[in-house]
Amino acid sequence: MHLLLPHRLLLASLVTLGLLLGAAMPVDAARGSKHGGKRLSKRKAKERGLAVARKGDTIDRLAKRHGLSVASFRALNHLAAHQKVRAGKRYRVSRTARLAGGLRAGVSIGTTTNAYVVVNPLRAFGRPNTVALLRAAAERTQRRFPDGHRVVFEDISVRGGGFLPPHTEHRGGQEVDASYYHTDVTSMRHLRIATQDNFDAERTWFFLKSLIDTGHIDRVLVDWRLQVLLIAEARKQGATEDDIARLFQHPRPRRSHVGIIRHAPGHNGHCHIRFKCPDGDCDLDEAEVRELIPQS
Ligand SMILES: [Zn+2]
Repeated sequence: MHLLLPHRLLLASLVTLGLLLGAAMPVDAARGSKHGGKRLSKRKAKERGLAVARKGDTIDRLAKRHGLSVASFRALNHLAAHQKVRAGKRYRVSRTARLAGGLRAGVSIGTTTNAYVVVNPLRAFGRPNTVALLRAAAERTQRRFPDGHRVVFEDISVRGGGFLPPHTEHRGGQEVDASYYHTDVTSMRHLRIATQDNFDAERTWFFLKSLIDTGHIDRVLVDWRLQVLLIAEARKQGATEDDIARLFQHPRPRRSHVGIIRHAPGHNGHCHIRFKCPDGDCDLDEAEVRELIPQS
């Protein structure tokens, strides 16, 4: 998800706290990731009009502290009515701070269907290939495994692109945070931590493989331990050792730059999928999508 990291120290203490509590860390505390963008100093964060929500903060409190109305705070951060602020996350608190990145001719993936859940359509604008291929891969997975829940798509980008708190990426409509498939629930409305006990490797691998095979995927960030489960499943579904060495970073070191599927901290509750446009052309018509992602 690429949080703009509050602070190395804060993250370290959150990790320690998580370990001390002996519980799975809350998704949001765990989402920080170094990769995909540089860490921001406090000063830089302020220049960019960002602020970290403190423990106990509500939208009301945070907005007031920065002289904003609740409505403009929600608008600035593209928060839907039901969404709350979460401690440790960065939010945009200035209308004038510089924005970077952009998305021309972006399309929203729209609302929830029988194949996928969209958490907030206002934060789900992507390039045409991102949106079309995500839909097609989710629909293919749903056809193959009609029982069970749907994949959840959280943030892609906002209309027009640009900075989307709390991410450093998700600016140009080419990245999505997608849930894993789980074995123990029939419906999921939000991203949810995957463990060895509830991770549905079969469906998750089918979905990811459908996308990767299109040649439009640049990178997928998946927690190291979940990669192990996916590799076992990939073998079952017929992947050769060469395929596995090309697709997965595991068992190379976590810093290794090999593999489409790589580790980044905080990716046990969702995978971060980054698309690319192989021939510099991000537009795909229906026939091309069908060719890239088979119907069966
Ligand atoms: Zn992400």
